[in-house]
Amino acid sequence: MKYIPVIGLEIHTELKTESKMFCACANNPDEKSPNTNICPICMGHPGTLPTINKKAVEAVLRLGIAIGGAISRKSHFDRKSYFYPDLPKGYQISQYDAPFVEGGVLEGVKIKRIHLEEDVASSKHSDGKEENYTFVDFNRAGVPLMELVTEPDIKDGEQALRFGKELQRIMRCLNISDADMEKGQMRVEVNISLMKEKDKEWGTKVEIKNLNSFRAVAGSIDYEIKRQSELLDSGEKVIQETRGWNDQKGTTVSQRTKESAHDYRYFPEPDLPELTFTEEYLKSLKASLPELPEEKRKRFSEEFNLSQHQIDDLLDDQHGAIYFEEAVSELKEKIESANIQLLFNYLTSDLRGIAKTRGKDMREINIPPEHFAHLIFLIQNGTLSSRIAKDLLLKMEETGSDPETLIKEGGIQFMGDEESLIPIVQEIIEKNEKAVADYKKGKGSSIAFLVGQAMGKTKGQADPEKLRELFKQELGKI
Ligand code: ADP
Ligand code: MG
Ligand code: ZN
Repeated sequence: MKYIPVIGLEIHTELKTESKMFCACANNPDEKSPNTNICPICMGHPGTLPTINKKAVEAVLRLGIAIGGAISRKSHFDRKSYFYPDLPKGYQISQYDAPFVEGGVLEGVKIKRIHLEEDVASSKHSDGKEENYTFVDFNRAGVPLMELVTEPDIKDGEQALRFGKELQRIMRCLNISDADMEKGQMRVEVNISLMKEKDKEWGTKVEIKNLNSFRAVAGSIDYEIKRQSELLDSGEKVIQETRGWNDQKGTTVSQRTKESAHDYRYFPEPDLPELTFTEEYLKSLKASLPELPEEKRKRFSEEFNLSQHQIDDLLDDQHGAIYFEEAVSELKEKIESANIQLLFNYLTSDLRGIAKTRGKDMREINIPPEHFAHLIFLIQNGTLSSRIAKDLLLKMEETGSDPETLIKEGGIQFMGDEESLIPIVQEIIEKNEKAVADYKKGKGSSIAFLVGQAMGKTKGQADPEKLRELFKQELGKI
């Protein structure tokens, strides 16, 4: 390519705390009724005093430690002054020259800073049927908002996507945010310019806002690279502006050109104390970090022999990953050579599918990992066909019972009559000389293999106990 893309991200994340950043109001992103979780502090009434939410500060520090950033030993909040309908108090408490975290790396991208601020209110426009109004809902005002800024190290949409997804996994793993982009809990802004290969200087950057999916992030970058290249090719200039993303068309659209740089008149927030973090405190935070995605990836690959793609699938579903590990250890107790791939496949397709249709996550599903592992065991040893297993799984979720009980209760009808089973048993014996020879040599487990073959032949309809009996009987005649 003629031009080198220079891309940096600014990512805002709403933190998952009980209360808001500077008051005791509930931080509840699911609150539908407007102006419910409000008080004079988050409404910005004169004369009120903020207090710092320790959990929110801790969340930022923990993320900083997790990505290898440097934590400022001394820090403070600043006032950023501007007026907007969603910020009628005239200033936002943020951090300017002393962010909690500086530096760190993720997916090969350097982090510039991570700081903490308060979110603003949200505006809703009336439907315009009678008169046009804009309503302001303060439920979101004062919610802890973390801002992470990267260096412009990113080269394309694909890398931005990998960065965003890994950051999301880490934040979920640290349990500091659900980071759901559709809900606006994680908001990504792209800064992008193109540089001519021979130049050393960066070009004019364009900022893209309101990207509410990773697809939009990657798509807008690809589109901007093309748009800006074409402008430069035809000798035109890229203008500094803010653009939005049109999801239907897959294009970016100009929203506003940057007039002149804002002067926010930052100054240290006079109503809040300076913060100092002791070495001891930071050490205890570091010690409290859970196993991070990168470590988990390594361990899952060694312990379970899953592909990187399969591991990432599990890492994106935190509760699914916990469920998976528990089920694997249950399965290993039942059978020496546990078929982990089989368990993974049933978990990520059937089990997850059931959870989804019930609107549950994997933690809420009505099947304990032990029961699920038992089901996999029965599939692995040939007792259950996949068709029956799928039905059984549904019944397990409905009743909360284990598969054995459901089978015994007769929810599942097996084919048990000898007349129809004996010819099948004989056919399987004829076709599997090796297994038969092994059995004759005293390898008892060969029978499980033969039963499995017969189960396959009957599409899982046969009663496996009956089959076992018949195999013993028929093999005894040889
Ligand atoms: P601003 O003050 O305009 O917001 P910052 O220095 O805070 O700029 O940077 C905001 C983001 O833009 C960062 O992610 C940074 O890496 C990125 N950035 C800065 N300059 C450029 C550029 N010329 N091209 C692309 N991205 C840039
Ligand atoms: Mg900025
Ligand atoms: Zn409040």
